[in-house]
Amino acid sequence: MSLTANTNAQLIKEEALRLGFSDIGFAKAEHLAEEEPFLKQWLDNDREAGMSYMRNHFEKRVDPTLLVDDAKTIISVLLNYTPQTLQQDELAPRIARYAYGEDYHFVIKEKLALLLTFIQQTIFDDLQGRCFTDSAPLLDRAWAKRSGLGWIGKNTNLIHKKLGSYVFIGELVINKELPVDTPIQEACGGCTRCIDACPTKALLAPYQLDANKCISYLTIEHREELPIELKDQMSNWAFGCDICQEVCPWNWKARPTKEPAFQPHPDFISLSKDDWHALNEDSYRTLFKNSAIKRTKYRGLRRNLDFLK
Ligand code: SF4
Ligand code: SF4
Repeated sequence: MSLTANTNAQLIKEEALRLGFSDIGFAKAEHLAEEEPFLKQWLDNDREAGMSYMRNHFEKRVDPTLLVDDAKTIISVLLNYTPQTLQQDELAPRIARYAYGEDYHFVIKEKLALLLTFIQQTIFDDLQGRCFTDSAPLLDRAWAKRSGLGWIGKNTNLIHKKLGSYVFIGELVINKELPVDTPIQEACGGCTRCIDACPTKALLAPYQLDANKCISYLTIEHREELPIELKDQMSNWAFGCDICQEVCPWNWKARPTKEPAFQPHPDFISLSKDDWHALNEDSYRTLFKNSAIKRTKYRGLRRNLDFLK
């Protein structure tokens, strides 16, 4: 790559950090030849549970050049969401950290759109690109890994050496070549803390998640009744589950996010066990107006809360 290409890459990275992203990396847009067999096997074994959308657009999911015309580079960004404080009542039904603040989809999309405009105005005036955050058939962890931002841990999360795994991932797919970053070495070593700690044994083996048993999937995406055989294994989670991340040594030194949108609302963080169980639809709407918790709707959250009683 030329000096200009390296300078352009540097300008984009600096702007991403200025916009508040925690890290950024680049990968060549191409067929995910290595990852494709893993996804295929996971689906063949019905590990996706009710997330049948994972079966849709398989070809595009493993090849972004089929998703975006003339795709040349995937720009992956990370945004730390580690909260400054955790829920105050230790007996309160637990909410996954990622849902403490505002819905990340809006926060990341807005920043990605600003980054795209910056690249158009400063570097490539004929740039074509699209922004994604958990919003299209794109394997975000695979791209973040290829962009040198971390490795996929045995708990199947992306782990960044400094940030840990409490990070959101977003992508810009653009029609311009940029100097690509080098993937880093996997660093789980002999550790199996996440597998040992999973209360429902949803981590069948390293890198093998069975969503049918995963509290995170069941409390957020699952639309039916919760499996009665897991009633005593929910570890008090009402929305999501962070156990396989809490036990990960790479998260022990994670620094709190600087993103104002992800700061937990004081009214949410101070809800007691009794407050949660007494939550009605009106207070749910007010309290979680811009939150990712709305994903379950009141009915879903009420089902989860009742299941914990
Ligand atoms: S999120 Fe919870 S239930 Fe799912 S794999 Fe991790 S520890 Fe297990
Ligand atoms: S807990 Fe251990 S094995 Fe699991 S992701 Fe973290 S470092 Fe890897």
